[in-house]
Amino acid sequence: MTDSLLSSVYRQALEVIGSVEPRIAEATRQELTDQRGSLKLIASENYASPAVLLTMGTWFSDKYAEGTVGHRFYAACQNVDTVESLAAEHARELFGAPYAYVQPHSGIDANLVAFWSILANRVETPYLKKMQAKNVNDLTEADWETLRHEFGNQRLLGMSLDAGGHLTHGFRPNISGKMFHQQQYGTDPETGLLDYAAVAAKAREFKPLVLVAGYSAYPRRVNFAKMREIADEVGAVLMVDMAHFAGLVAGKVFTGEEDPIPYAHITTTTTHKSLRGPRGGMVLAQEEFAADVDRGCPMVLGGPLSHVMAAKAVALAEARQPSFQTYAQAVADNAKSLADGFLKRDARLVTGGTDNHIVLLDVSGFGLTGRQAESALLDAGVVTNRNSIPGDPNGAWYTSGIRLGTPALTTRGFGHDEFDRVSELILEVLTNTQPGTTKAGGPSKASYVVADGVAGRVQAAADELLDKHPLYPGLELS
Ligand code: PLP
Repeated sequence: MTDSLLSSVYRQALEVIGSVEPRIAEATRQELTDQRGSLKLIASENYASPAVLLTMGTWFSDKYAEGTVGHRFYAACQNVDTVESLAAEHARELFGAPYAYVQPHSGIDANLVAFWSILANRVETPYLKKMQAKNVNDLTEADWETLRHEFGNQRLLGMSLDAGGHLTHGFRPNISGKMFHQQQYGTDPETGLLDYAAVAAKAREFKPLVLVAGYSAYPRRVNFAKMREIADEVGAVLMVDMAHFAGLVAGKVFTGEEDPIPYAHITTTTTHKSLRGPRGGMVLAQEEFAADVDRGCPMVLGGPLSHVMAAKAVALAEARQPSFQTYAQAVADNAKSLADGFLKRDARLVTGGTDNHIVLLDVSGFGLTGRQAESALLDAGVVTNRNSIPGDPNGAWYTSGIRLGTPALTTRGFGHDEFDRVSELILEVLTNTQPGTTKAGGPSKASYVVADGVAGRVQAAADELLDKHPLYPGLELS
């Protein structure tokens, strides 16, 4: 699509939207301006292509299609069947997965589908066999009682939140921590690295049904062959949540034992982070779990978002192009440049560096909480998110860390020099920020004071970088 055509498409779309609710059209315009004018370093965000964005704005949004391809509870789903089949085909081909389920609306939904599929496969189905029942309709009330008890009393072992795991990996306040008896594995207190021997020891002692690997804030690669060995030794199902690093798997940066697909029984992902697709989720599975995953709807999902499945197909087709491998490699290389920029300026990083797309900066050395650092950086046009670090004394709300990621700015074309400069700018803000005080005059974990002129100076320097790498170049809304 030519630049002027893209501008005209969006201008007209905003005119149509504005004729109904002008404030939404205005907010949409403003969001583009804001995204264009800031250094987006949130590790879970990216910029989807215009083709992906446009695919989401169609009449597929209006269609109900509960069920699976060719087996729907609604009529007239022939075009949704085409869309879902294509998205699943692209996913299977891209990741080399035997089976792909593209209906989950989000990463959390994908994990719920995976959990219930594992429970169905490993608890419900064997129980039905034991009771010589064909399906759940044949069970008596007493059978149900037993099944409910067995279903809900399984064990899950996942990475702890402060080591970088996700809340759906058994965190107590999340449903995953309530559906399962859960325990967590952490990282080595000295190095911050995953200690496979410690995970194995915990698994031997706890004997989980599900071993979850994957993370939201761990700046290192995982050896999935080792995780599978641990799962096999204790008879667990290995579930890998690659929501964060799916783009690095798709782009063949993570290969061999770092590619989860051949080792995991079930792999879940989001499609909107490093994979650069629409906001959504996906489940990839070995054949043995395919029929159970297919029950995602009605098990935990309602009608699929057909317009988003269509956009997933477009994004996955993009990720199958050779240029996506170049992009993914640049994401990892840029994370190293960012980390090296911090290290040579004496900042402390969790694990001492990175070999994926994430850099976790410990801000306690600046006398700040993550919350203060996040806010001070935002004043200077640097968008990050606070994150706890292993053993964090400030908990999950205030935290002591800042999580940074390279997928978005790499999409804009940032390379080594730009990321080195970004590390310099971040440190300029942090070294010039002091903790503030509470209204009562005590020390505050939230308020902060940035020295005069610093935010403006850093924003101007960021603008220089951003102007060289425009977001959606050629797209003009006015
Ligand atoms: N899994 C991991 C590892 C994540 O990092 C996230 C999101 O941050 C999710 C799952 C949930 O994804 P969503 O926000 O799409 O539900």
